Amino acid sequence: MKQAIALDRLQRTLGVICGKDTAPEVRVRRAAHGLGLRFRLHRADLPGTPDLLFTSRRLAVFVHGCFWHRHPRCPKASAPSSEFWATKFKSNVARDRRVEKELRALGWDVIVIWECETKKSETLARILTTKILRRKVGSVKRSASRLRHRKR
Ligand SMILES: [Zn+2]
Repeated sequence: MKQAIALDRLQRTLGVICGKDTAPEVRVRRAAHGLGLRFRLHRADLPGTPDLLFTSRRLAVFVHGCFWHRHPRCPKASAPSSEFWATKFKSNVARDRRVEKELRALGWDVIVIWECETKKSETLARILTTKILRRKVGSVKRSASRLRHRKR
């Protein structure tokens, strides 16, 4: 049983590594479409290749697996069973932070939607409404235009 769970996690993990469309990603896209939001997928020229990109809102969205990306206080992000995984997870979290910093420096706002938040469609719709649809964009746009001015 324990092995079956480990295998299931590994397969999901490999799906993330290979950049395949994960089920949580598909759920987020569907919910965003349902709210009339338009976005681009996997822009590889941006740090971390954001899962969804809301260009006019200057917003990059990552859909993170709770186990792989260590969702804080989430039951799905159980303690790693070995030193190997502990190290691996630490570097994943560090990379996520670095990517977020790089995107913000380029004038993008960044939000993370966790796998466990995509399970119930009502919860997901509420999150997307609050975090994307009703989001204030002023501050990000201002800093982005400042950035463009400096480049000229
Ligand atoms: Zn979670």
